[in-house]
Amino acid sequence: MPLSEIRRRLRAAEAEAGRAPNSVQLIAVSKVQPAERVAAVLDAGQRLFGENRVQEAQARWPAFQARVDGIRLHLIGPLQTNKARAAVAMFEAIHTLDRLRLARTLAQLAQERGACPDLFVQVNTGAEPQKAGVLPEAADAFIAEVRAMDLPLVGLMCIPPVEDDPAPHFRLLGEIASRNGVAALSMGMSDDFETAVALGATHVRVGSAIFGAREG
Ligand SMILES: *Cc1c(COP(=O)(O)O)cnc(C)c1O
Repeated sequence: MPLSEIRRRLRAAEAEAGRAPNSVQLIAVSKVQPAERVAAVLDAGQRLFGENRVQEAQARWPAFQARVDGIRLHLIGPLQTNKARAAVAMFEAIHTLDRLRLARTLAQLAQERGACPDLFVQVNTGAEPQKAGVLPEAADAFIAEVRAMDLPLVGLMCIPPVEDDPAPHFRLLGEIASRNGVAALSMGMSDDFETAVALGATHVRVGSAIFGAREG
């Protein structure tokens, strides 16, 4: 689907939900996509992209950034502590803060650098054992600990279980955010971004609907 069509649907979802035009940021998830598809989406005017691996992003984006101004990258996949230094140098936001050890490492890097990417805490709303994220019942305490480290916590992120109706997961994320005074909500992907916008998403992460199915 062309980018323009996704943008049109996003603007329609904002209007439908009574949200301000352009209040929801579209993150084009380019992970695993061939370079020519990424180049086409850049040509269509998209500047905000999501990647799920630090190394893949490092391999691909510097060349695009040398050619095109204003590219912004968000990390949407799990971050190993030993890749944190590379990640903070490259990403404007990290959506997957999910453990104290990583928070401590990021706090140390923030102090060294005098800057830190915007951070989202990933919440495992479905309490899936194989999935990253803090459990919903642990979220309030985790958010408080991150704030006590003076880190720029801006939002919460979730990836609902594939087999579930995503709406209750989006609602739960919104409730945790509002009771903690957290402003941003990173939720909604290709199949459910309109539902996410209706339930308060500020950032939607859309991959295959923009780029086509991921190969391999
Ligand atoms: C891959 C991925 C997406 C995009 O998924 P699509 O279904 O292709 O839109 C969004 N968020 C995360 C965390 C992902 O890993």
